[in-house]
Amino acid sequence: MLNLQIVMCAQIDDIRSEFPQLQEKVYGKPLVYLDNAATSLRPRSVVEKWTEAALKYNSNLHRAVHYMAQRSTEEFENTRTYVAKAIGALGKGKIVFTSGATASLNLLASSFGESQLQAGDEVLIAECEHHSDIVPWQMICARKGASIKVLPVDERGYLRMDLLPELIKEGRTKIFCVAQVSNVLGLVNPVKDIVNICHSKSCAVLVDGAQGIVHCGADVSSLGCDFYAFSGHKVYAAPGTGVLYISDEWADRLPPYMGGGEMIQTVRWEGTTYAAAPQKFEAGTQNISSVPTLPVALELSKSMKEDPRIKEFLLDEFSRRKDIRLFGDPLKPQDKIPLFSIAVEGVHHEDLALLLDKMGIAVRSGQMCAEPLMDRYGVTGMLRASFAPYNTFGEAEYFVSSLDRAVKMLK
Ligand code: PMP
Repeated sequence: MLNLQIVMCAQIDDIRSEFPQLQEKVYGKPLVYLDNAATSLRPRSVVEKWTEAALKYNSNLHRAVHYMAQRSTEEFENTRTYVAKAIGALGKGKIVFTSGATASLNLLASSFGESQLQAGDEVLIAECEHHSDIVPWQMICARKGASIKVLPVDERGYLRMDLLPELIKEGRTKIFCVAQVSNVLGLVNPVKDIVNICHSKSCAVLVDGAQGIVHCGADVSSLGCDFYAFSGHKVYAAPGTGVLYISDEWADRLPPYMGGGEMIQTVRWEGTTYAAAPQKFEAGTQNISSVPTLPVALELSKSMKEDPRIKEFLLDEFSRRKDIRLFGDPLKPQDKIPLFSIAVEGVHHEDLALLLDKMGIAVRSGQMCAEPLMDRYGVTGMLRASFAPYNTFGEAEYFVSSLDRAVKMLK
């Protein structure tokens, strides 16, 4: 046991040294960063790659014949191949680069909605979705005269899978939008089962992998989903990077979202023809310095594992405490990532977050871009602590003791 702990410490020290921000102090206290679901900290290797791309081979992509353009194009396209391999998409579909999960989801809602939705059609959305997987669909449904239906979650936070078959009306329900892992509940949704049910009724499946890619990884060929979206910044890459995977079945059928340079084949006053996917979906100058950080970040992510004791400890702690309500309460620990959204009886989440901040702890408070889910649980907001592999068990203990102190101060 002791030996194991020493090995774990050595590993975590190595991991922590990759993330210089962990050395920062907040109000004189060491930073304990527990807002990883909002964005992860940036590792040195990512910043180095980013700097290298900006300082050494900054150049626009694809068109010019000069050396630098070829070098930056090579980095960009190699990244595409890397990402395709990393998420099991090679030979299955196209990798489209975007500015983040929100941009990926908007692209898809617009493109899919414009081409596939008609008046009377339905879009099914899981109740635990982030606003970025709700609002773009509301916008396109309003334009097309389609409507939104919701697959509810139960009291613990699990999707009501029993209701899924009856909610999909064959021929009318065109797509089901669901997170691999909810950013509020932290529960891993049964995407494979969902895909099987949806496909048996000719309904496409969009997976929001913004949180899932970080903790579960993604294998779109095993998940079988039609679309998969994620942001780079939550998985240690440079902000302003994002991915939308589109299966081969859909890549040619979906129209472009934005028009401009790079996405065309020919432009005439009489009309324009478009490039093939993925370029069709990438209008304008791309995030040339940041996209090459994705392979570095995804490799690093694969190599790091959270300390399993953190999840056990916090699940145990929150299940024992009568004054704390945990949202996303798993039947088995493996159903949940180390993300804990809670409400403490008689104490406002924002007051708690402010006091914790003074103790050096960064947590999220509020609606977490999931207002319908707040309504579902009858709360105005929650306090969320989300952990990454660079967080230590000691930090989890400090979080709990600081929470106790803060609650006492506020009660
Ligand atoms: N979906 C989920 C599940 C998320 O957690 C987030 C970020 N909180 C998003 C989508 C949107 O990601 P971004 O803000 O990086 O576009």
